[in-house]
Amino acid sequence: MANSSLTPNASRRYRTGDQNWVREHNLSIVLNYIWEAGGPIARARLTEISGLNKSTIGSILTELQAWGYIKETGTSSVGPGRPGVMIDINPDAGRVIGAEIGVDFASVVLADLKANVLWQRTIETNGHDYSAKPNQDQVLAQTEALVVEAIAQVEAAGQRLLGISLGVPGLVDHATGTLLFAPNLGWSNVPLREMWQRFKVPVIVENEANAAALGEHMLGNARQVANFIHLSAGVGLGGGIVIDGKLYGGVGGYAGEIGHMTLAPDGQQCKCGNRGCWETLIGPTAIVNRVQQVAGEGRAPILMALPEVNGNIQAIRMKHVLEAAQRDEPAVLLVLDDVGRYLGIGIANLLNAFNPSLIVLGGMLSLAGPYILPRAQREVEARALAANRAGMQIVLSAFKSDACVMGCVSLIIREILNNPTAWRPDRVPNLRGEFAASS
Ligand SMILES: [Zn+2]
Repeated sequence: MANSSLTPNASRRYRTGDQNWVREHNLSIVLNYIWEAGGPIARARLTEISGLNKSTIGSILTELQAWGYIKETGTSSVGPGRPGVMIDINPDAGRVIGAEIGVDFASVVLADLKANVLWQRTIETNGHDYSAKPNQDQVLAQTEALVVEAIAQVEAAGQRLLGISLGVPGLVDHATGTLLFAPNLGWSNVPLREMWQRFKVPVIVENEANAAALGEHMLGNARQVANFIHLSAGVGLGGGIVIDGKLYGGVGGYAGEIGHMTLAPDGQQCKCGNRGCWETLIGPTAIVNRVQQVAGEGRAPILMALPEVNGNIQAIRMKHVLEAAQRDEPAVLLVLDDVGRYLGIGIANLLNAFNPSLIVLGGMLSLAGPYILPRAQREVEARALAANRAGMQIVLSAFKSDACVMGCVSLIIREILNNPTAWRPDRVPNLRGEFAASS
């Protein structure tokens, strides 16, 4: 298993560096610089930014190329002197699968090593019935079937599968890859990584909001941003807090459950057992419930006339709410404005606590952005300390509903960049369990 949580001696406080460690560390640093360049980078520039000497860079690049991670993409004649060799990540170094189990859907993407999506499928798993508890065995089987489909694509292309990452809406024990508790799914203690050992590649299980935050950090709108908070609204409301470039996990890795901050002490019952959580005020389920109430009072004729709703209040889903908002249904816009109010109040609290430079709205919040952001901005202006809102920006996720699966893709890529030796072709088997000859 190539996974950072299983690295030998990870519990030692300080790691001493022998020659091998220095070598592996330098391989990772150079690979990370190539990745961060976001496109071809000159070999001379790599030498410059890494601070390594020319011969060390030369042998590192030879090794990374032999393992298939990078490729030469020709020469560049910018500047004086000899044309320089240009180097880029080799997208065909292998394939990566990102998966998500949501409350009413499962989604799987297949990507290359540059995070280009090659194949994607999303299915409904629960008939959009948020009140029914999803059948665990059935949903897992449906999700696994999607992964098998993705793997078939990898096989057909004669490619190597480098890893699978799965995002879930609940607390995850990272050491074992077990889903401990998912209030909105009603599941507990599901040993997901153990179950997916059958795929014979490294499997990383992560909380969906954390995955989304890390994806936004590596691939999306929070690139190069050291301090930010990602708010992710699927059915519930999750958060990922990135501090100094690292996800803040807290003692047990469970930090970021900001959807369960109490904002209304005597408010609605939340699935976590508490009352008046932020999630019960701005989560998609809460939004749909409030719009259903408004519709029941006869105040949402445009919404009720939508073909998929057709007068049936129970048929109203978030997508219909957004459609009615787009058609300027006044009562729906009022509900969303109030959602913006509580969004802004919660963000003001987060700004005062963490002083981030960026808040990223993901999932349903990003889709509802135009209708909730103006009010949220006004609340932030009115409530956050001036020093904590100075220069701060609220932006929408680059990946919207795909934030989690893309985050999962980024988790595997990140592991590879940080430990390329563990993923070299003679260490990770192909799908038939065969290892490449040692290079
Ligand atoms: Zn709660």
